Amino acid sequence: MALDPLPTLHRIFGFPDFRGVQRQVVDRVLAGERTLAVMPTGAGKSLTYQLPSAMLDGTCVVVSPLIALMHDQLRAAEAVGLRAATLTSVDENRAETRGRFLDGQLDLLYIAPERASGGDFRDLLQRGRVAMFAIDEAHCVSEWGHDFRPDYRLLRPLLDLFPDVPRLALTATADAHTRDDILDQLGIPREGMIVAGFDRPNIRYTIGARDNTTRQLVDLIRATPGPGIVYAQTRAATEKLAAALAVTGRPTRAYHAGLDPAVRARNQADFVRSEDMVIAATVAFGMGIDKPDVRFVAHAGLPKSIEAYYQETGRAGRDGDPAVAHLFWGAEDFARARQRIGEVEAARQPGERARLQSLAALVETAGCRRAILLRHFGEHPPERCGNCDNCLNPPKAMDATQVARKYLSA
Ligand code: ADP
Ligand code: MG
Repeated sequence: MALDPLPTLHRIFGFPDFRGVQRQVVDRVLAGERTLAVMPTGAGKSLTYQLPSAMLDGTCVVVSPLIALMHDQLRAAEAVGLRAATLTSVDENRAETRGRFLDGQLDLLYIAPERASGGDFRDLLQRGRVAMFAIDEAHCVSEWGHDFRPDYRLLRPLLDLFPDVPRLALTATADAHTRDDILDQLGIPREGMIVAGFDRPNIRYTIGARDNTTRQLVDLIRATPGPGIVYAQTRAATEKLAAALAVTGRPTRAYHAGLDPAVRARNQADFVRSEDMVIAATVAFGMGIDKPDVRFVAHAGLPKSIEAYYQETGRAGRDGDPAVAHLFWGAEDFARARQRIGEVEAARQPGERARLQSLAALVETAGCRRAILLRHFGEHPPERCGNCDNCLNPPKAMDATQVARKYLSA
């Protein structure tokens, strides 16, 4: 008889029901299958391994790329009463954690990918009981993906030591090419891929040429009550914007990795609590933040890729209420991006170039922005969404878009 996950969902997580494809994913894991789950940020990926970890005999080994993220996840898992630990170079209780694993006292064990190649670690796993593997941010295994981590390539030999243990790869950000690569790299069959819907119908996408960034942002902020995030390219730009945008009368803060950790943490905490704050941030901001009422996300320049754009704008309107995403770009953004591509190693250039082309198609289109986004993620959306700039105000003539095309083909 198949295991029924619903009672555990109610008892441990207190949610009345699964969302979207969660049930499908969990059922495959409980049936011992290999799975790739492609689910947008906020769709609830963690639950698809946390829940089985509470039901299955043994420990779920979770691979996660960032130690900071791991510690957030650890706290969240412990908060619902799961027995969890991290095994990383910064943990001082590693011996205790190994003991808990061997005694069968852990539901979840979080590790960084580089640990996977260690002989000691392989021995440890073989002496204990592994219930499943969860590979978070699985696009890191692909050179085609936007965030390749060579250490993720160390996982396959480890996974293959446990051929009968279910493996679940998770990602929010995989185009078709990257997905195929993840399946190959991690030994997951094609029928094991489950893709959730990517549409965020309450987000209104608007993309336009930049002339005076500060003035454009001030107009946007004045027109949009509620908390908002402005993404800028550099640390200096976030600080300049945070100061300049104060003319709107809204509380403003900067956020970037170079700030004093205490200041950074305070700015983030203030933002999460605030109902009207504007935070000017680098893309370091937002990971692991659960703030449902963000009303706008603005990009003061071209994001890194469509995936990054989707992920960053996806932080708006998680509560389902109307929200806006504004991107301001200039031809020089493309020039700079092309230059950067020229500097990366040759093997990665085709992928980077394709990513830039996709981004150009999005910003240049006179058609529906949402349709382009969703097609990028393999969906078949209607021709017009009715809730993006081009659907609401169809453009009359080509303008700045020609400039970007020139830069791309030069
Ligand atoms: P992801 O990793 O896909 O970005 P998370 O796992 O962080 O998403 O989950 C996002 C939010 O959704 C969390 O606050 C989580 O508690 C919530 N959530 C997950 N599953 C459900 C569910 N079935 N019902 C209600 N809320 C859920
Ligand atoms: Mg997650």
